[in-house]
Amino acid sequence: MKRFKGKGAFGALALGKAYVLDKTDEARVRRTRVDDIEKELCRLEKARRTALIQLDEIYNKALLEVGQTGAQIFEIHKMMLEDEDYYSAIESTIKIQTVNAEYAVSVASKSFSSMFESMDDSYMQARASDVKDISLRIINNLTDFNPSTLFEEPVILVAEDFTPSETLQFDKSKILAFVTEKGSVNSHTAILARSMNIPAIIGIDISSLPLPDNKMAIVDGFSGNLYIDPDDTFLQENYKKADLEKEKRKSLESLKGKKTESLDGKRINLFANIGNIKDISQVIDNDAEGIGLFRSEFIFLEKNTFPSEEEQFAIYKNAVETMNGKKVIIRTLDIGADKQIDYFKLKDEENPALGLRAIRLCLKRPDIFKTQLRALLRASVYGNLSIMYPMITSLEELTAIKNILSESAAELKSLNIPHSIPEQGIMIETPASVIISDELAKEVSFFSIGTNDLSQYTMAIDRQNEQLDDFFNPYHRAIMKMIKITVDNAHKAGIWVGICGELAGDLNLTEEFLSMGIDELSVSPGRILHLRKKIRETKSNKNDC
Ligand code: PEP
Ligand code: MG
Repeated sequence: MKRFKGKGAFGALALGKAYVLDKTDEARVRRTRVDDIEKELCRLEKARRTALIQLDEIYNKALLEVGQTGAQIFEIHKMMLEDEDYYSAIESTIKIQTVNAEYAVSVASKSFSSMFESMDDSYMQARASDVKDISLRIINNLTDFNPSTLFEEPVILVAEDFTPSETLQFDKSKILAFVTEKGSVNSHTAILARSMNIPAIIGIDISSLPLPDNKMAIVDGFSGNLYIDPDDTFLQENYKKADLEKEKRKSLESLKGKKTESLDGKRINLFANIGNIKDISQVIDNDAEGIGLFRSEFIFLEKNTFPSEEEQFAIYKNAVETMNGKKVIIRTLDIGADKQIDYFKLKDEENPALGLRAIRLCLKRPDIFKTQLRALLRASVYGNLSIMYPMITSLEELTAIKNILSESAAELKSLNIPHSIPEQGIMIETPASVIISDELAKEVSFFSIGTNDLSQYTMAIDRQNEQLDDFFNPYHRAIMKMIKITVDNAHKAGIWVGICGELAGDLNLTEEFLSMGIDELSVSPGRILHLRKKIRETKSNKNDC
């Protein structure tokens, strides 16, 4: 048995035969001479028309499964397929070199993608992979190649990378797991895998795998481990683990619709964290009582240019309408540090985690901030929306935010655009905000504790640096004391307080959080029912006197 370490993109277990998808398959695009040029041009045109129909279908599927923002990429693909320069380059190769269409498409794919890659603009650079994607689609149509039909039984699908369109096109029932070399946890493929509830690992060096051979493999999306050729004992252990997981998930279903209340009657608001509008289906599926953290920066991260007020308004409005009266807490843009976006054109920083990020960036760029605030004020007319500001460290920041918010509201009023001022709260994720939480509490309606950043800033441990794992103690008493101080100060001022960092879902801490008097816990949708179970089995031990 061999173990390969990658990064888990979706925590679940899969056991089965591995199938390595070799998409480059040289034989399919081998250069051959053709005598009948007209026939070849006709084959090409037919393959392109089929591709356009396929893209229409994928676009509609994507709209339902991943929403407008995720689906947009397929519109771009359609536009590229209709691009004159690209298509006539293929036709010319066929005519001049008297060669087959597959080969001509692969030539155009290489020359257009390297042209895009060499451009300065990051948006244009990103188009290189789109040219490869549409070219592969035409080649697949020319050669009647459909990856989904390659395997009869469900498989663990291994490839260097999957394009978003491939990921969506696979028959879900035939995929046990995805394993890829490229992509990040927030790459399209990882995002889609999560939304499809398919275990996934990224960052595995595919060339080092003892495959392809249809070998038995285990994908552990929790730890990011891939096991090839597991020995019998290990295999049986993992089959049991997978069965247990399945049973656990099934038994949790019965908790849907039940109250989130401790054994001694303390009610907790059990909310979900999302990064994308399409995650809402999971929020509803898992019976979350609201959205405690909508990381709005993902709307910006998925785009190649600033999302307009209208685009943002449509997303926020859709979120509150879909949640149908349940609370939706939208965090304003938290860009900077590990979340970089080229089109913001931010300067390189020595210490980006301590740099121009989140609210600091918004206060420095009120144009961007106001666009988002106007969209939020407008959307708040349509449902139960709250605004949350990240990375707060001072009262002065709150004063600046209030001024910009008033200006945004005045702009909307002068244009007669319906809007309302929703509830507003802040994230407590810096030690400074904990220390002055008594003062901050008088200025806002709620606190949500961001334990991911609070831990990083309190322990001086970069959350991105895996070398520091040995020094990182998620249960450090300093963090627990900070949470307690924040809860007490919030309650003294009469406001509610929750946790939306990863610690919120740590079942080892549920009892302690309840005894502190926490009012809300916000976790990823897949953790909701686990946490509800734990809360219902726990005594809050809170002395309210
Ligand atoms: C946090 O810091 O705990 C948090 C929830 O915000 P993010 O992880 O997005 O920085
Ligand atoms: Mg944070």
